[in-house]
Amino acid sequence: MSDDTNKNLRILIVDDVSINIQVIANILKKDGYQMSYAQSGKAALVKSNFQDFDLILLDVMMPEMNGFEVCIQLKQELKTKDIPVIFLTAKSDTESIVRGFEAGGADYVTKPFNGVELLARVKTRLDLKRSQEALKSAYQKLKATNEKLLKSQEKLEMVARTDTLTKLSNRFDIIEKMENEKIRFERSQKPFSFILCDIDNFKLFNDQYGHDCGDFVLVSLAERIRSRVRKQDGVSRWGGEEFLLLLPETDLEGGRILAESLRETVSSNCYEYDEHKLEITMTFGVSSFSQIENIEQCIKMADSALYKGKSLGKNCVVLSGTD
Ligand code: GH3
Ligand code: MG
Ligand code: MG
Repeated sequence: MSDDTNKNLRILIVDDVSINIQVIANILKKDGYQMSYAQSGKAALVKSNFQDFDLILLDVMMPEMNGFEVCIQLKQELKTKDIPVIFLTAKSDTESIVRGFEAGGADYVTKPFNGVELLARVKTRLDLKRSQEALKSAYQKLKATNEKLLKSQEKLEMVARTDTLTKLSNRFDIIEKMENEKIRFERSQKPFSFILCDIDNFKLFNDQYGHDCGDFVLVSLAERIRSRVRKQDGVSRWGGEEFLLLLPETDLEGGRILAESLRETVSSNCYEYDEHKLEITMTFGVSSFSQIENIEQCIKMADSALYKGKSLGKNCVVLSGTD
């Protein structure tokens, strides 16, 4: 019975005897397949390289090149390696059948064959091929979706850890880094330090030139600080105009040196917003985790030092424990 979906399926019939091709074609016609013919192995290889086939019916005994050799070559070519090959042959001995499968054949039908059986075998092979292709395409789609999902997940994670305005770490990210640092400290006993710094008189920038100017100051300082610290140092926006730096393997004196250099670079740089020259300074509080082994308290100590710096006249560095 002719099947409409079969008219898109192309079968190549290979046999050196034209009457055999005729017989096979008459059978396959009943199921409505598209057919092409080749009367030698070489012709079959050429045809299958230029046209797309869904299945090849291949005779074994042919002059010059036998069916097994043709099949081996088909299986070596990228374009043809996945086309199922059914051997159609008078050679019915076990050795030949085994050779056929070894050559990469999908099925082996011996002549004289029954037409209904041939059609059933062809249909089975074609159905299998279609299922395999559908599975492959579903797998590719799934893979692509998975990759997209992974990328969005990475992006989402980045966003969740980043301060939108300054692109620095946010509180969540720096707190996680602190926890890791604490674990490292317990192993290595190498101290780490905090610098908490705050922009002096920041409210004035907002009040005088608007909120955008305040944002400009925040972004400029974030970039400035980020570019001056080591790669392993964590720089976060801790609050409105407060930055918290986490300095691995750095003691209190190391923290002081860095804070002093940041104070200097911030105050000596020229900032211009909307043709207004801005004078920006920051006050720094420094504490070290070796002073007290509790992160929260250590940050509080940096905060107290910063507060002390503000009361001392701002634009300065104060170490914790120096009351
Ligand atoms: P001090 O020298 O004592 O630190 O004074 P200050 O003016 O810097 O500090 P204060 O706490 O009085 O004011 C901070 C201001 O920062 C108030 C708040 O509106 C502003 N602010 C907080 N977050 C942002 C922000 O994301 N953008 C802008 N433009 N302003 C912000
Ligand atoms: Mg301030
Ligand atoms: Mg403040």
